[in-house]
Amino acid sequence: MLEKLSSILKKTTDKIANAILLDKTLVDGIIKDLQRALIEADVNVKLVLELSNKLKKIAYDERIKGVEKKEHLVKALHDELKALLGTERELVLGKKNIWMLLGLYGAGKTTTISKIAHYYAKRGSKVCAIGLDVHRPAAPEQLKQACAKINIPTFIDSEEKNPSKIWKKYEPELKKYDLVLVDTAGRDALDLALIKEIKSISNLVKPTETLLVMPADLGQTAKTQAQTFKEAVNITGVIITRMDSTAKAGGALTACAEVKAPIVFIGTGEKPHDLEHFDPESFLSRLLGMGDLKGLLEKVQSITDKKTIEKTQKNLEEGKFTLRDLQAQLDTLGQVGSFDKMISMIPGLGKAKIPKEALEKQQAQSQKWKHAINSMTPDEIENPELLEKQTSRMQRIAHGSGTTVSDIRALIKQYKMLKELISSGKSMNLESGTLDQKTMLKFAKKFGKKMRM
Ligand code: GDP
Ligand code: MG
Repeated sequence: MLEKLSSILKKTTDKIANAILLDKTLVDGIIKDLQRALIEADVNVKLVLELSNKLKKIAYDERIKGVEKKEHLVKALHDELKALLGTERELVLGKKNIWMLLGLYGAGKTTTISKIAHYYAKRGSKVCAIGLDVHRPAAPEQLKQACAKINIPTFIDSEEKNPSKIWKKYEPELKKYDLVLVDTAGRDALDLALIKEIKSISNLVKPTETLLVMPADLGQTAKTQAQTFKEAVNITGVIITRMDSTAKAGGALTACAEVKAPIVFIGTGEKPHDLEHFDPESFLSRLLGMGDLKGLLEKVQSITDKKTIEKTQKNLEEGKFTLRDLQAQLDTLGQVGSFDKMISMIPGLGKAKIPKEALEKQQAQSQKWKHAINSMTPDEIENPELLEKQTSRMQRIAHGSGTTVSDIRALIKQYKMLKELISSGKSMNLESGTLDQKTMLKFAKKFGKKMRM
């Protein structure tokens, strides 16, 4: 069910969570992927653009920074998608319940009746079905057979062509049930004859719920259909069937939300148990692959340690950059995964085309550096320049951390390079991860030149 969209949504939240530099290029890329996936799932282009614009507004907002920006983005993504799915409406059984199902030919009315019957019978209600589809000769028998499989009594009359006579005939019997499910006739298209028939059946049976059944593969057409049925016969809920058999279900789902016709159930297969209560929140959680919004936010927060970033940021602002800050950076990189991945997320650096071997070396090197930094005295960490002229200090550290003096030299070189970059550019904002393009390219060049190891 919407597997492709789901996989893109999961990737999107991962990308936001893992991003070190959440800059315009990265955000634009993420949004482009998202747009493509939503449009492929048949969500209305206008809705997709609205959603993208809202995300961009947050992403480009200079006042929101770092982890906070990630949180804002993920929350907005969650909330906007949820809004696209509409509001929840749970059908609660009252004392007497008559539910009339309507929809075009082949929408899945009869199949869905057996599913709903199964759903409530399992939960202890006394359920029956009545066949008022008098147009198709085989219809009553189909209903009867579907319900017989799950031991649900059905009331049909294959000879009678007047639905109201069938209803009246069985009315006293129906009173014995908690829930009566009414199967009605469809048409090839939504026309006046159908609406007239539905209205007259509706006046007769006085349904407590009028449920429109539509297949998910209708896509955007679902909007017109839901709207027209809603105006004509005041539908109280929608059931979207065949969610399992199309990648375009996003169209029908969001179309119903647009015309404020709440989806109450979705059909996910042909078997009696293939019916689910529709709750936008849990549906979305499944798409995003996360328990709930809280889970998503935790994911974002767990990757970047806010305090460390804030401290580094403060140091930078004060013109200080110590090995401890470098270590913090290395830690963040380590969590994100490979250097390679990080590089690809940074515009400019991505373009620098740093050889893969160099990157792998760099990654192994960072591990060594972390050990080395751990073997230093606080004084050395704050003032790495101390080490430069004193080989004995470097030897001590190398010995203590299982590295070599040349590793330590490389570390100091990298440190000095970063420090220079930071003090010259002053445009590096570690927290928001924004580096202007010019500085980035400069960095990329240096990285390429100096970091050959
Ligand atoms: P009706 O004309 O509206 O009564 O539609 P039916 O109940 O006869 O269903 C039409 C076809 O859709 C049948 O072949 C059903 O098996 C199939 N169908 C209904 N619901 C689902 C569903 O959720 N998933 C799948 N895959 N098929 C369904
Ligand atoms: Mg039918």
